[in-house]
Amino acid sequence: MAVLTKHGVELKVERGGRVFPVSDRAEDIVQALFRYVRESKVEIRTAEEVLGILVEAGQVKGVQTTQEKIDCAAVVMATGGKSYPATGSTGDGYQWALQLGHQVITPRPALVPLNILEAWVKDLQGLTLKNVEVRLVQGEKVLGREFGEMLFTHFGVSGPVILTLSHLAEQEKIRQGLSLVINLKPALDENKLEQRLQRDFYKYQRKQLQNALDDLLPRRLIPVVIRLSGISPTKFVHQITKDERRSLLRTLRGLKMTVLGPRPWAEAIITAGGVSLREIEAGTMKSKLVKRLYFAGEVLDIAGVTGGFNLQAAFSTGYLAGEKAAQVVRAN
Ligand SMILES: Cc1cc2nc3c(=O)[nH]c(=O)nc-3n(C[C@H](O)[C@H](O)[C@H](O)COP(=O)(O)OP(=O)(O)OC[C@H]3O[C@@H](n4cnc5c(N)ncnc54)[C@H](O)[C@@H]3O)c2cc1C
Repeated sequence: MAVLTKHGVELKVERGGRVFPVSDRAEDIVQALFRYVRESKVEIRTAEEVLGILVEAGQVKGVQTTQEKIDCAAVVMATGGKSYPATGSTGDGYQWALQLGHQVITPRPALVPLNILEAWVKDLQGLTLKNVEVRLVQGEKVLGREFGEMLFTHFGVSGPVILTLSHLAEQEKIRQGLSLVINLKPALDENKLEQRLQRDFYKYQRKQLQNALDDLLPRRLIPVVIRLSGISPTKFVHQITKDERRSLLRTLRGLKMTVLGPRPWAEAIITAGGVSLREIEAGTMKSKLVKRLYFAGEVLDIAGVTGGFNLQAAFSTGYLAGEKAAQVVRAN
């Protein structure tokens, strides 16, 4: 926060200690980082790709790019992960680290949207649900539970709650027989929801069920919930039986979807795994194996849940590695 404020970004702290620019514009952060780089007299070259790191007698000597060999007193490897390669991170750093003797924990896609079997999910694409509770279950076992926002897509589900749960599924190494269960009304316990339904049913008793749930659900969700509850959408509310109302209540508290698996690397938000932290000095981000080599960001075996933890890890390790590498260069 001190670095960003110093470089002209006014910050605000929101619920849960999450920090944003007051403007809510990511671009302001990019511009601040550019100002920081310019003030530090850093030259940026974007038209050439790094092909490898040159090391002699256990010490960094330079980098080889597609255009030239650049002599360097120190190198910071910050090549990112393997996920979302459209942003340039294609996993090159892992190969170089391996060649230099570093251990690389097998990279895996993480914070990744999930493919869902049920066709009705695709009917809801573009719909965001807020303040829902989603459980990741395997049989009877609840593996994780998250509260917040999720999104239906053309393949299944995404959004903060889903990404966080996908991370958990990855950690547990569980892939088979997974389901997601959405509680659409987590603020109401079973009794309160039952009372709420009764109140709505009394209010809309002369309407068909399909026209009686607007107070309770987003419009696009209504036909899906009615279908899954096994009730005719055209049935008049005053004709609905107690059993049917119970079935509707169960659906509202437990909308179940079958998880087919994660989306591919190209859509994973982060990469879990990476260069092992064991061979890196935590106070400096320096390699314990190669002199004057530093690591920062997602190329490392660091994976956080959603909420800014990955950007924070990249910023913090990047700052530290940059400062320490610069000290080496100045002293050289
Ligand atoms: C869609 C999306 C949304 C995200 N949202 C969040 C979020 O809300 N909060 C959060 O904390 N994190 C988020 N992340 C994750 C976060 O962006 C990353 O963790 C972070 O950017 C990692 O920073 P990095 O500098 O280590 O790597 P990167 O940002 O991946 O940068 C690596 C750079 O190295 C360059 N490079 C790689 N190989 C070479 C080479 N051979 N030669 C030259 N250049 C090379 C790449 O072009 C790239 O510019 C999101 C990621 C994605 C994809």
